[in-house]
Amino acid sequence: MKFVSPEQASAETGWDVVIIGSGFGSLFFLKRYLEKRPADRILILERGRNNSTEWQLENRLNSDIPPEETYIHGEGSGKPWDFTIGLGGSTNCWWGLTPRMHPSDFKVGTSTGKGADWPIDYDDLVPYWQELEQVMLIAGSSDIGRVYPGTENYPQPAHQLTTADEIMVREGNGNHFPMPTAKLSRSVGARGRCCSTAKCNLCPVGAKFTAFNAMQDTLSHPSVSIAVGCEVTHLDVTGGSVSAVNFKHAGREYAAKSDLCVLGANAIHSPFIFQRSGIAGHGVGRYLGEKMLADVEVMLGGLDHFDGGTDSTAINVSILEEGRSAEFANSIYLVKNNLLHGLRLEPGRWRQTLPITLYVEDVFDYENGVFDDGSDKPVVRFNGWSDYAMAGLDHAIARIPDIFAPLPIEDILVHGIKPTLGHIQGSLRMGWSIEDSVVDAGMIAHAARNLCVVGTSVFPTPASANPTLTAAALSYRAVDQMLG
Ligand SMILES: Cc1cc2nc3c(=O)[nH]c(=O)nc-3n(C[C@H](O)[C@H](O)[C@H](O)COP(=O)(O)OP(=O)(O)OC[C@H]3O[C@@H](n4cnc5c(N)ncnc54)[C@H](O)[C@@H]3O)c2cc1C
Ligand code: SF4
Repeated sequence: MKFVSPEQASAETGWDVVIIGSGFGSLFFLKRYLEKRPADRILILERGRNNSTEWQLENRLNSDIPPEETYIHGEGSGKPWDFTIGLGGSTNCWWGLTPRMHPSDFKVGTSTGKGADWPIDYDDLVPYWQELEQVMLIAGSSDIGRVYPGTENYPQPAHQLTTADEIMVREGNGNHFPMPTAKLSRSVGARGRCCSTAKCNLCPVGAKFTAFNAMQDTLSHPSVSIAVGCEVTHLDVTGGSVSAVNFKHAGREYAAKSDLCVLGANAIHSPFIFQRSGIAGHGVGRYLGEKMLADVEVMLGGLDHFDGGTDSTAINVSILEEGRSAEFANSIYLVKNNLLHGLRLEPGRWRQTLPITLYVEDVFDYENGVFDDGSDKPVVRFNGWSDYAMAGLDHAIARIPDIFAPLPIEDILVHGIKPTLGHIQGSLRMGWSIEDSVVDAGMIAHAARNLCVVGTSVFPTPASANPTLTAAALSYRAVDQMLG
């Protein structure tokens, strides 16, 4: 990797592209861009440090900058938000689960009268999902193509299911599949296969995809220069274009000039940069949220669990497939093969417990968001999940006995809603015009036509699926829309 100082980053006469942040949105944009314009001069401005995998494992941390030190809770809003500040962004801390969004997820507004539609459809993303599932070496089963059309054979075989999953696949309603994951089921080069230790933010064997173990070609490309420890504060916009990217390092201020600016500083920090730059759009910083994560434990009568090959072995999409309701949000079930709630206490029955995690979608509320109070940190306000999401949670719990009927269910314990699952989304949403959104369907800001926003901030609705495969697909698509 070619690291440059802040002075070198700003002294240059100008860059072809300046990319802000080095997480999923940014690096997949960069990867695709380099395929088309390998000779362009590209600068990455990254706020955090270059914390190597070795540093992370040794310190049991993904970053030396805790997320909560980078924002302020708005009055009455104590909800935490999780992400990594550092080179590679949240490719470091994520858990590698990579389902696609469901075809119905793009039309939540039309089908429920709540939330927004996406300005693109499932079919627009199919070629990008297909390509990225190969690039990211996803392990999975093409059987899931019944629900997600256009799924091709995955490059890695699915992880071993648990016995409970196998019963669900054999005797259930046809909606239980191995979870697609960016965790190797077979070793590749120096990366080991997943051994189901379930410490996935700090994977000890490199089974989980990260920027460091799988995007070195992109980060080390001769056209790419990286300046770490450089916090972008604001953009200068003149005549509808970004003319300079302003950043600070060790208390000093700098500016880098560029023809194209790509903003991928996550769904809390990207809108803050927008706000401090005075860039217009409907809902800049608003509609922030994340889906809800709730934990349930199914007590099994005489069936042992925890014999699968990875941390989250299966996804059950029964509720998605039943069709969207205006009354309650959609959701998915994830079968966990990890000791989230410990073992049972009864002798001989220790493993007769099945942890299930529910992901419940929400619709973003205009009142939830990132606000600029004039200090150097964004104020984040979140008034809680909507009634639609709460009803979705109740519905998902109530349906467990029926959907999981093939299993010997003794009891269902609800462990409650987690404060965060790290899927921050919204805040610079995509749409049709500056009257309804901040960026267009190609993720170009309506108000600054050489500014492309990448990452999960552009999601108009969160859906119930994990967002990152889709964020990567959106980055690939944005480059193709821009450069053909
Ligand atoms: C614990 C955890 C587990 C997760 N597991 C999964 C999963 O299994 N599957 C899934 O799909 N998703 C998962 N996610 C979510 C996933 O990590 C995010 O969806 C994804 O990283 C979002 O990409 P992004 O590019 O928007 O932001 P990020 O990847 O977070 O990148 C943002 C980048 O911007 C940098 N930055 C921030 N502010 C500035 C600034 N002012 N100047 C310069 N740089 C800046 C950051 O340091 C970082 O490099 C998980 C998240 C967490 C926290
Ligand atoms: S389960 Fe263990 S080996 Fe597999 S990705 Fe997670 S930490 Fe790595």
